[in-house]
Amino acid sequence: MNTLTKETKLTLLYIFIAYTFSVLMRMIWVYQFHGYAPFIYHGQFMINTNDGYYWAEGARDLLSGTHTNGLAENFYDKFHQFNDMSPVNSAASQLTALFAKILPFSFESVIFYMPVFLSSLVVVPIILIAKDLKNLNMGLIAALLASIAWSYYNRTMAGYYDTDMLNIVLPMFLLWSIIWAISTKKDIFLLIVALDILVYRWWYPQSYSLEFSFFGLILAYTLIFDRKNIYYYKLMAIMMFAMMNLSGFVRLPIVLAVFYAFKQEKLDKYIYYILGVAVIGFFVSGGFSPIWAKLQPYIFEGAVSVGKKGFKLHFFTVMQTVREAGHISFETFANRISGHVVTFVVSVVGYIYLVYKHKIMIFALPMVGLGFLASVGGLRFTIYAVPILAFGIAFLITEISSKMPTNKLKYLSLIMFTLAILYPNYKHIDGYKVPTVFNNDEVKVLDALKHKATREDYVISWWDYGYPIRYYADVKTLADGGKHSGSVNFPISFMLTHTQEEAAQMARLDVEYTEKTFKFEKEHKQEVEDKNLTIFSNIEQMTTDYGFKDTNDFLQTLKTDIKLPKKTRDIYFYLPFKMLNILPTINLFSNINLMNGAKSRNPFIFISRRFKDLGKVIQLGSNVSLNKQDMSVNIGKNRVRLRRFVRTRYDKQMKNIVNTQMIDFTAKLSLIYMSSYNTFLLVDEKTYNSMYIQLMVLENYDHNLFEKVITNPYAKVYKLKI
Ligand code: MN
Repeated sequence: MNTLTKETKLTLLYIFIAYTFSVLMRMIWVYQFHGYAPFIYHGQFMINTNDGYYWAEGARDLLSGTHTNGLAENFYDKFHQFNDMSPVNSAASQLTALFAKILPFSFESVIFYMPVFLSSLVVVPIILIAKDLKNLNMGLIAALLASIAWSYYNRTMAGYYDTDMLNIVLPMFLLWSIIWAISTKKDIFLLIVALDILVYRWWYPQSYSLEFSFFGLILAYTLIFDRKNIYYYKLMAIMMFAMMNLSGFVRLPIVLAVFYAFKQEKLDKYIYYILGVAVIGFFVSGGFSPIWAKLQPYIFEGAVSVGKKGFKLHFFTVMQTVREAGHISFETFANRISGHVVTFVVSVVGYIYLVYKHKIMIFALPMVGLGFLASVGGLRFTIYAVPILAFGIAFLITEISSKMPTNKLKYLSLIMFTLAILYPNYKHIDGYKVPTVFNNDEVKVLDALKHKATREDYVISWWDYGYPIRYYADVKTLADGGKHSGSVNFPISFMLTHTQEEAAQMARLDVEYTEKTFKFEKEHKQEVEDKNLTIFSNIEQMTTDYGFKDTNDFLQTLKTDIKLPKKTRDIYFYLPFKMLNILPTINLFSNINLMNGAKSRNPFIFISRRFKDLGKVIQLGSNVSLNKQDMSVNIGKNRVRLRRFVRTRYDKQMKNIVNTQMIDFTAKLSLIYMSSYNTFLLVDEKTYNSMYIQLMVLENYDHNLFEKVITNPYAKVYKLKI
C-alpha cells in the first residue's frame, strides 16, 4: 500500500477545511429562518430563485416516469406533455432527478441544498491549481474567499437552485486540467481536459465561448513559446474533438478513441493530420457557428433585414421595464467580485503580479475577461472573475507573510489578512435575508389546483409566476421567465386590465391560438427554420382571421360576443394578491396602440400601505389624503369627489365581505379599503372594472364567464366557463 505524501495529505486537509467552511457559511440563512413557516412547504424550505422552478419542473417530470405518448419524437418527449416547455432534456433537471432518486432526501430538500453542496466544490480546483504552483497556503486562502465572495454567494446560496451552482465549478476544473496538462505534460490530462469540456458543455450549452477562449490561448502559447512540442498539438486536437457541435454521446467515444491513438507513440508522426481532421470536424459540425453568430451583429451591423410581411406591430418589451439593466457602479462591481473595493483593487494588482511570477496563470484570463464583461453585460457575469481575483489577493498575502522574520509572525499575518478579506463577505451573507419566491399559502392554492386541473390545461397569470405555477400545479402556462416577449405579454396584460368579458374572450382566444401555433410550427418545422415562413404573433393572427386590418378594430369587437375558437381544454386564472404591486407595470404592456406604438394615458392606480389616521383626514401618501367628512380625496392641490368607497374584509370563515357605498356617479375615482390587508387602493373606473380588481380584490365575478375555484387571502383561482 502506498502512503500519501505529506503534500497530498495537506492538500486533502485544505480541501476539507475550505469545503466545510463554504457549506457552513451557506447554512447561516438556514439558521436565520429556522422554523419560519411561510418559507416552508412539505417540511422543507422553498427555493428563492424563480428560474429554479424551471429545472425543478423538468426533474419532477423525469421522476414521474413516461406516459404513453405515441407521437413522441425522442426518448425524453415521453416524460412530459407536448408544448408544456418542461426542460426534461436539460442537464440541471437530469442531475436533480438522479440525486432525488439515489439520495434518501425529499425532492424539496434536494433542490434546496444542491447549490450548497455543488457550488462549494469550487474549492477543489482552486486548491489543486495552487498545488501546481507549489503554494498550498495561497490555495486555501483563495478557496475560502472565492467560495463565499459576494456575487458567488448570492448566486449559489441555499435555495438558489439554478445552473450557477456548477457554472464556475466546471470551468475552474477545466482551467485546472489545462494548467496541469501544460505543466506536467502527462498524457492522462489530455483525456481529463476533453472530459471536462464534455461535462461543462452538457451542463451549460453556452460554455463554448470560454472553451474557445482557452483554446485560443493555448494556441498562442504554443506558437510563441513551444512550437516544437507535440504535446500541445495533441492537447489542441483533443479539445477540438471535444468541442464539436455534436451530441455528447458521439463526442465521448471519439474523444476516447483519439486518446487511445495518442497513447500509441508510433502514431505521433501523424499528429498534424489528426489535428487537421479535428479542425475540419470542428468547423463542419458547426462548432464555430455559435461563436460566429455572436460576432455577426458586430461585423454586419445593420445588415439584418426585418420581415417585410405582416402589420409590424409595436409591442412593449420587458427590457423597457428594466431600467438601466446594463449600468452598474464601480463600487457594486468591486463588491460583487471581492466583497470590498480595497480587496478588489489589491486583487487585481495581485493577479498581475501572480501572472508575472507564474506565467501559467495567464490561462485564467478568459474568466477574468468574462467577469469584467459585467460592466456592460450585467451583474450576473461578475462571478466568473471571483476565483481568479481571489488567487490574486491570496498570492500577495502569502508573499508578504513569507517576508516575515519569524514563523510566528508569518502565520499570524496569514491569518489576520485572511480574516480581513473574509469579513466583508461574511457581513454581506449575514445581512442577505432574501425571501423564498412563494410563501406557503400561495403554494397551497397551486397544490389544490393541481388536483383539479389536468396537465393539458392552461393557467394564466403574469410571466413572473409562470415557472412556479407549472412546477406546483403541473399545468401549462402562456408565459414564464423565459417566454415573455412583448407579443406574449400583450394578451395577458390585456386580460388582467380589461373587463371580465374582454378578458374571458381573449383568454380562450390566446390559449387556443398558442396551441394552434405550436402545432403549425411543428408541421412546418423546415420552412420555419429556413425562414420561408413567418410565424405571426397570436394577436396579429387573430386580427387577420377575424377579417380586420387594424388590431384596434379587432380588440373593440371583444366588447361584444364574438364567435370563439373550439374549446380544447380548461383555462384557469391564478391571481395572487402580490400582483397588485406590479399592476402599473403589467398595464404598460397592453396600454399601447399596437399599430403605431403610441402609448395611451396611464390609468390611475395608487396603492397605500403606510397610511395614517389623523382624525379628520387619513393621510394615504405624501400628497394624497382622504377627507372623512365628505369622502373626498385631496391629490396634491386638487380636491376630488369619490365615485364610490368600498371596504373589504374577511370574516371568520375567510369569506370576502364587500361593502360598497356609492357617493357620486359623476366622479372618476374610487377608493377601496382592503382592511384585512391594511391597504388602500385609489383607482380610476377602468382599473376598478378590470378583471384583476373585480376577481381578486372584490370577488365580484360574472357567473356566466367564471367559476370561483380556490381562494385564500394570498391568491385566488378562477376557472373560465367559456
Ligand atoms: Mn407538463
